[in-house]
Amino acid sequence: MMRNIKVLKFGGTSMGSAEAIRQVISIIKKPSGNVKVAAVVVSAMNGVTNQLIKIARLASAKDAPYKKMLTDLEHQHIKTAKELLSGTHKKKTLARIDELFRHLESVVLGISRLREFSPAGLDYVMSFGERLSAHILTAALNAQKVRCEYLNARHIIKTDERFGSAAVDFKKTDKAIRAHFKKHEILQIVTGFIGATTDGKTTTLGRGGSDYSAAIVGAALGAKAIEIWTDVSGIMTADPRLVCDAKVVPELAFEEAAELAYFGAKVLHPKTILPAMRKGVPVKVLNTFRPADTGTTIVSSFAERRRHSHTVEALTFKSPVLAIHISSPEFFDGNGFMARIFEIFDLYRTSIDVVTTSVTSVSVTVEDEKHVRSIVREIAKLGDVSVERGKAIICAVGGGVNAAGVAGRMFTVLGEHKIPVEMISQESSGVSMTFVVEEKDAKKALKVLHKEYIQG
Ligand code: ADP
Ligand code: ASP
Ligand code: MG
Repeated sequence: MMRNIKVLKFGGTSMGSAEAIRQVISIIKKPSGNVKVAAVVVSAMNGVTNQLIKIARLASAKDAPYKKMLTDLEHQHIKTAKELLSGTHKKKTLARIDELFRHLESVVLGISRLREFSPAGLDYVMSFGERLSAHILTAALNAQKVRCEYLNARHIIKTDERFGSAAVDFKKTDKAIRAHFKKHEILQIVTGFIGATTDGKTTTLGRGGSDYSAAIVGAALGAKAIEIWTDVSGIMTADPRLVCDAKVVPELAFEEAAELAYFGAKVLHPKTILPAMRKGVPVKVLNTFRPADTGTTIVSSFAERRRHSHTVEALTFKSPVLAIHISSPEFFDGNGFMARIFEIFDLYRTSIDVVTTSVTSVSVTVEDEKHVRSIVREIAKLGDVSVERGKAIICAVGGGVNAAGVAGRMFTVLGEHKIPVEMISQESSGVSMTFVVEEKDAKKALKVLHKEYIQG
């Protein structure tokens, strides 16, 4: 059931300074008809997660200067709180920051004494970033008479134990979210990025995971919209840091946005779209610093959008990836040979991004290097295997990618620029086309294709 509520998410740059947080507050306070903001999900202040990781690493190495970094991080949060707050709000928040940093200090001291940290330890350390920013925003809103409460997402997002990139248990999570929001009707300020196992260990959802947290909460509540507020005015035709002529795409289908996010468009965490798509909740991507811009709306199904969109909408790439080529005469016979190969990848929990096949061979790309040696050892029992590193996957999305002649023109243009292409694959409903190039050619390929298809 759709309810008259929405969930907002503010990223690291939006939470990055007192000035930015003031802007965040003005967006939260802005009336939006009869739609109430039920939850605001926040990232850590810009750069803080990276600093926390560095601190844990340095603490585990001998005589490393992590203490200075910890003090600097504490000062950054104190300064922000002081700039935003006064009176008892300030006093209380500074006490909370002090409490969190003394706790963090003791955790990091443990790491430094042990000279090591586990993935579970790192997730716990990383969780401080979102806890700090969410406390500061809660206090700043309360100080402006916006009634709200701090909510540590540990209480509502239930995951497995894959620390660093935990998988969400949607059954338990949806139940916990609904139960919590039933009891707490006022605005909840939720820590993005973090969750917990059923026995209470803190986990994280993968770097950039606060987008995913917002989608999980919005979908569970049957919200009218999930708004991802960031530092660009929507999903763009290409990464604006690489292609200066990139422009905002006003509308995308869930499927198109999911492909873009999966194949490297950092503006959305790859898993964000799935919960929203399952429940049909529209996702908007908006700019905190230009709130009047219309942004990108991700909504209709691809089949519907395609009726009025016949262009290549956006391009992205993911790198580095490695390509594994497997060949064997056994492919001729079928007999579940392909299934046996995929089982090996599954056994090592290594996901495959692109697959191409011929009569006697299959090629796949993977991003995760961790188990490649073991996988290759297993596959070598079935056929000849070779591995090529330093590759990139280019992905184009839009109703036009499988139009007559588009693929041909794409590869001709790349050929003219001496960019070799391999492993071409088209998604069956025509949402996307992916292919593999050398990592060193990826940026050039992106620029060339953007010029040809999007700038016109
Ligand atoms: P936040 O901290 O708000 O989550 P991120 O840095 O994670 O922000 O994501 C926003 C950034 O994503 C933009 O500043 C931009 O540099 C980058 N980006 C990469 N690809 C795209 C794209 N196709 N459209 C928009 N932004 C993109
Ligand atoms: N703070 C986390 C990160 O930097 C999560 C997020 O920003 O979405 O990865
Ligand atoms: Mg992000």
